[in-house]
Amino acid sequence: MNFGEILGQDKAVRNLRAILASEKMPSVFLFSGPDGVGKKLAAKIFIQAVLCLAPDQNQSPCEACPHCLAVQKEIHPDFKMVDLAYQANLRDEELSKQRTLRVDTIRHLRSEMSMEPMMGGWKAAVIVDAENLEIESSNALLKILEEPPRKTFWILLSSQDQALPKTILSRALKIPFAPIPKKLVAKALAERGIKSVPALELCAGSIGKALEFSKRENWPGVLTENPLSAVQACESLPRDLPSSRREAELIFFSLLENLRRFYHQGKISFERFEKAARDISWLKVAVRSNADPRASVLLACLKAREAGLKT
Ligand SMILES: [Zn+2]
Repeated sequence: MNFGEILGQDKAVRNLRAILASEKMPSVFLFSGPDGVGKKLAAKIFIQAVLCLAPDQNQSPCEACPHCLAVQKEIHPDFKMVDLAYQANLRDEELSKQRTLRVDTIRHLRSEMSMEPMMGGWKAAVIVDAENLEIESSNALLKILEEPPRKTFWILLSSQDQALPKTILSRALKIPFAPIPKKLVAKALAERGIKSVPALELCAGSIGKALEFSKRENWPGVLTENPLSAVQACESLPRDLPSSRREAELIFFSLLENLRRFYHQGKISFERFEKAARDISWLKVAVRSNADPRASVLLACLKAREAGLKT
């Protein structure tokens, strides 16, 4: 893994290289931007570059030393990737039961990060989808970030950073990740043998979403033909709850990205965009926590329409 693999994020990569060159390590980062645009990959490569025994003069990791190999495989003892799978493992529960990041998980992480580095360098924690933190978990995290253990740094990844507490946001160095240009998304898909994706427009520059879309045949049509047909969107949701939740996430994603596009094109005001984006982000978090996907999708479509999103 190296910086060259991060597609369409030249500015973010430049920022990260500059931090590596400066040797002044901020203790908290926020990588913010849509899902599936390379935030997690960038976090891993950055950590690899920090821990690497032989980075080159452009701060690229060597990809061959024990640190590089262990970070790549996510088995480095001084690097924690904290996501719902990490929590499921910790609690010895099924992954499908994990919806939010709980306070016990953050407490456990604190104790792990407070121990001396096992391989002598820095310790790093990545918190994936930080908007999944419960309020109590955010408070526990804030306490850690106020006085982070020595030689540690923390990277929060979020597509919904407006849902994070301001007290956390104000401590973090924000590295924005932009949607990936459509041409590059199409190229990345072609490299994986995928020739066409319905509604590439709706993928909003996210390779991850484009890959998910490419597996579906029906539902993107619902949103391309009439993105605000709340009733159609609800009807398109599958009957079983886990699939219905996943599809609801995609609908929220499309609505949020369309709103963002409308705002950038000057079709809706910042106030309208921000209010609707905040409401929809909360609905997204609520569905992960247990709210009814159908009711939440209906409400999200209405919020988007209220903000001025039209076909
Ligand atoms: Zn290395």
